[in-house]
Amino acid sequence: MQNLDLHCHSSISDGTLTPEQVIARAKANGVDVISLTDHDEVRGIAQAREAAEQLGIRFVPGVEISITWSGETVHIVGLQIDEKNSSLLKGLAETRSGRLLRGRAIAGKLDTLGIPDAFDGAMKYVTNPSIMSRKHFARFLVESKVCDSIPQAFDKYLKQGRPAFVPHRWANITDAINWIHRAGGVAVVAHPGRYNFSDIAFSAFLDEFKQLGGSGIEVVTGSHTVDQYKKYAGIATRYGLLASVGSDFHTPGESHIDLGSLPRLPEGVVPVWHNWF
Ligand code: AMP
Ligand code: MN
Ligand code: MN
Ligand code: MN
Repeated sequence: MQNLDLHCHSSISDGTLTPEQVIARAKANGVDVISLTDHDEVRGIAQAREAAEQLGIRFVPGVEISITWSGETVHIVGLQIDEKNSSLLKGLAETRSGRLLRGRAIAGKLDTLGIPDAFDGAMKYVTNPSIMSRKHFARFLVESKVCDSIPQAFDKYLKQGRPAFVPHRWANITDAINWIHRAGGVAVVAHPGRYNFSDIAFSAFLDEFKQLGGSGIEVVTGSHTVDQYKKYAGIATRYGLLASVGSDFHTPGESHIDLGSLPRLPEGVVPVWHNWF
């Protein structure tokens, strides 16, 4: 059975490896099919595709789009996209545009909490000036010994409800799915277990996602427990959604999930790649 990893990040967003290094690591880890899905950005795809061709690993062009639905941030992965599509490129540029201002606001909040110079501190980790991510602030908080770990930085400061969280309006669901479709891709709900929705709200979200032509949902992801693999396999079947697998790898050692290290999909679901190859 093939080893697919359809969600990961490079230095083009908030990972630390270059696209080439991501592909080389995937190859070394025994991945057969890899998708690079940087946040709101497709600039790494050309390099990743070339590296994949050289190393003989199958490559799927992807992106992870940040949206706001009912006041919550949700991530939608687009797979098999044409990264040159103008509608997608324009939409992603708009989606990225508020990140630096949000970064200033996060740094302002940290400053009032007695943590100075966080903007420049986070900026040292930013490898693509148009993608400043909370992850870069988390790395700064760990480096400056304010926090012991990246998860702790989110739990204490950066996640919703914590004192340095700054609400942000991302793309809307209709636009994000349309951009993916215009680029010939399929839309997949990223790490559904991570959102704070009630069952009723999540069900309304999935109904809308399906109505707009969304195709899939991540079942096996680095964000899910083994119990959640089963739970979201059931949800995929109930909603007629295709199932996806992705580590959400960002950088060696920072999370325990490496490229290609996840188990295979549970029995009974239809993989999102069922008609690709
Ligand atoms: P942003 O898009 O800038 O708001 O940042 C999202 C990034 O933060 C994603 O890469 C996630 O991997 C990371 N992230 C979000 N929540 C957490 C969390 N609770 N623990 C660790 N990383 C997180
Ligand atoms: Mn990230
Ligand atoms: Mn995500
Ligand atoms: Mn991700």
